[in-house]
Amino acid sequence: MVEKGSSFKDAALLVRNTTIFTTHTPVPAGHDIFSFSLIDKYFGSYIPLLGINREEFYRLGVDPADVGIGGTGTGTDAGNGAGFNMTVFALRLSAHCNAVSKKHGEVARQMWHHLWPQLGEEEVPIGHITNGVHVPTWIDSRIAGLFNRYLGPTWLNDHDNSSIWQLVDDIPEGKLWMVHRLQKMVMIAMMQEKARQRWKEHANPNIILASGIMFDPNTLTLGFARRFASYKRANLILKDLQRLKAILGHTKMPVQIVFAGKAHPSDDAGKQLIQQVFGIACDPDFGGRVAFIEDYNEELAQHLIHGVDVWLNNPQPPFEASGTSGMKAGINGVPHLSVMDGWWIEGYNGANGWAFDGDGNSKGNGNGSEDKDSEELYHILEKQIVPLYYDRDETGISPGWVKIMKESIKSTAARFSSRRMVKEYADKFYQEALRQASETVQ
Ligand SMILES: *Cc1c(COP(=O)(O)O)cnc(C)c1O
Repeated sequence: MVEKGSSFKDAALLVRNTTIFTTHTPVPAGHDIFSFSLIDKYFGSYIPLLGINREEFYRLGVDPADVGIGGTGTGTDAGNGAGFNMTVFALRLSAHCNAVSKKHGEVARQMWHHLWPQLGEEEVPIGHITNGVHVPTWIDSRIAGLFNRYLGPTWLNDHDNSSIWQLVDDIPEGKLWMVHRLQKMVMIAMMQEKARQRWKEHANPNIILASGIMFDPNTLTLGFARRFASYKRANLILKDLQRLKAILGHTKMPVQIVFAGKAHPSDDAGKQLIQQVFGIACDPDFGGRVAFIEDYNEELAQHLIHGVDVWLNNPQPPFEASGTSGMKAGINGVPHLSVMDGWWIEGYNGANGWAFDGDGNSKGNGNGSEDKDSEELYHILEKQIVPLYYDRDETGISPGWVKIMKESIKSTAARFSSRRMVKEYADKFYQEALRQASETVQ
């Protein structure tokens, strides 16, 4: 625009009015900061074409909470210290900014309040649109078969209409239970096939023992699969190994856990978490009831999301901006056991899964607080989840469990669908941005 004769000011205003920026995480590593020397290197000859000087350009991307705009620049590309902050830049040049859950909206407004010091925290112009998942992609085909029959053939077309999901109550309990059990068997068969491939490639018995070859479809199965970033706390459930051993090894009501995930190549803490999980998966004391599956990707995620009985999520609040894997599980009747953070604050209704506080650390209790959080987790498992799963009627199913499965589907499928999400972006942002763009053209 400047090349075609606009002033920088007019061009920046149009860009701003027609740009939507979504901030995705409060975790510092998720916000790129580039050193001034790098910006000089790559933008040095570009900045003059905008009709502004170096300092005016820098001002767009400098976080006032960092060191000011020095001539030399002290920023690092690793993200600490001053530099050109891409999030600050985007917030300043976008009229429509949002976080990805209600809670994340509050966290983001607090986090960036200093960019608008003249406003109250609740007036900081960052709203929220809660994430959603693509229902046609994440629904298991056998579960979809049940929906075809009991929700009617239009359910997929109409899947962001929550009233259609009330018909889930019509699915016979035994059918939902059996279809899910079949999914669990498919998942276990997949794990065993992967183990066979690994055996041929490596012939390393530990890798085979850790890959779930002793898994049993009759056993209550927890799933924990996501990136191994430290704040996701894959090891929270490993905090008290004696207690975990007692839960998993119970003679009448055993439990098994499948883990999967990758760490970022430069995240040593994340890699150590994987080593810890792997060590326990190989430990004979745990009886083959802990598995770690390598090469986590979308295909593996599909199997785990459809096949486990409970989806475990225990990040350190308030760092989980939304989380989406629990939504994928929820729409398939796999209830969520989660700390109150991200989307679960909006999603939990008291009957569709389990929730615990999980924010011991942020209450400033120091290290001991992880003990408090893991205590809550063990307590829910021992007192609620395990007994309910094994509370069988004369047909061999747990009616109380099926009730939670149904409630999980009913409460998540429409509201946490990406279709609802995209409509919300259109209503809140895109239509206004389009209007601004067409006004400017005229
Ligand atoms: C859904 C998904 C994620 C994101 O899960 P979170 O709950 O947001 O951590 C990551 N990886 C894969 C392969 C997924 O399918």
